[in-house]
Amino acid sequence: MIDIAQVRADFPILQEKVNGKPLVYFDNGATSQKPKVVIDAIVNYYTTINSNVHRGVHTLSQLATDAFEETRRKLKSHFNPKHEHEIIFTRGTTESINLVATCLTNLVKSTDEIIISALEHHSNIVPWQMLCERTGATLKVIPMNDAGELKMEVYDELLSENTKIVAVNHISNALGTINPVEEIIEKAHKVGAWVLIDGAQSCPHMAIDLQALDCDFFTCSAHKMLGPTGIGFLYGKETILNQLPPYHGGGEMIKDCSFDKTTYAELPHKFEAGTPNIADVIAFGTAIDYLNQIGLSAIEAYEHELLTYGTQELIKIPGLKIIGTAKNKASVISFNIDNIHPFDIGTIVDKLGIAVRTGHHCTQPIMNRFSIPGTIRASFAFYNTKEEIDRLVAALQRAVTMLS
Ligand SMILES: *Cc1c(COP(=O)(O)O)cnc(C)c1O
Repeated sequence: MIDIAQVRADFPILQEKVNGKPLVYFDNGATSQKPKVVIDAIVNYYTTINSNVHRGVHTLSQLATDAFEETRRKLKSHFNPKHEHEIIFTRGTTESINLVATCLTNLVKSTDEIIISALEHHSNIVPWQMLCERTGATLKVIPMNDAGELKMEVYDELLSENTKIVAVNHISNALGTINPVEEIIEKAHKVGAWVLIDGAQSCPHMAIDLQALDCDFFTCSAHKMLGPTGIGFLYGKETILNQLPPYHGGGEMIKDCSFDKTTYAELPHKFEAGTPNIADVIAFGTAIDYLNQIGLSAIEAYEHELLTYGTQELIKIPGLKIIGTAKNKASVISFNIDNIHPFDIGTIVDKLGIAVRTGHHCTQPIMNRFSIPGTIRASFAFYNTKEEIDRLVAALQRAVTMLS
């Protein structure tokens, strides 16, 4: 059970007012809020141990290195990869996917095929299109049904010996669909393809065991799971990461460097060129601790309750249509009301202190699939409440009255 009053007290921003009204933050799919311990971790780092990592013998550098590497250990125990060095720090999901798509360039032939899904975020579409342009490989897309669920029978037909990599999200940020990633991975492996799972939306909401999942790559953004912006990680299986060339060249990533020849450092440093985002890596570790203190199974159960309640209350509004009605869904509700433009509704509820997302959510192909310009999206986190959902419903009713 989540002690909701205690949890809300941990997040300073939840005590703020927006446009004179207590903030209702329902844009967690875009980024989560940060508990005070995470904010403090950043300040404490700069106040007490700021120093560059992996270099100096001096005390501060060692303290900074220990705190930095401690996060990698926390991520290992939280996500259960086989090895700690399979966790590569990046700026987040977007950079992680670009790293993989770029480093695969010389391993992909013009006869190869890359499979993504109709539910992808632009950051899991564009890097693969760019890889196809460089290599002549072909991009294939698993379509979805009207509920926003992937058509797995079509996936079966798309898979072949030509499939090099399958890249799909675990949970859709736009519709909330939880994809059958276990099945997707198992089937891809049968034809010898690698699988990248975009975990940007699953990490904040469910426990993930990378060895059990058996994907080849996995990506995560700290800022969607209570951590800072500008930090995340790429997981890759050791044997595969060792086959890839480095991504960026520079300091930290070399074993030996001369003008004739440079040899590269071992994992994970081979992929971590330059001074990393030390403060935010450390605060990411604090976010993982905080999340585990609440417990992901309690979070999942409570957010499911919010999804059920929110769905039941929202559909009472005349003319409201939910886009994305998959059987297996996370706490995201995307909807439209009659022919009112999502932006107009978003503007009115904002005046009432409620933050929802309006637009295409970086998933234009999904909007095209449903022939709509965008949706209004309410995405819940474990610090939200049913009373806040009631406030959203009341605000929407007011918006409809004003706009129709
Ligand atoms: C947010 C998101 C991304 C992009 O993550 P960044 O943190 O912006 O790099 C990719 N995929 C999904 C499903 C997302 O929700």
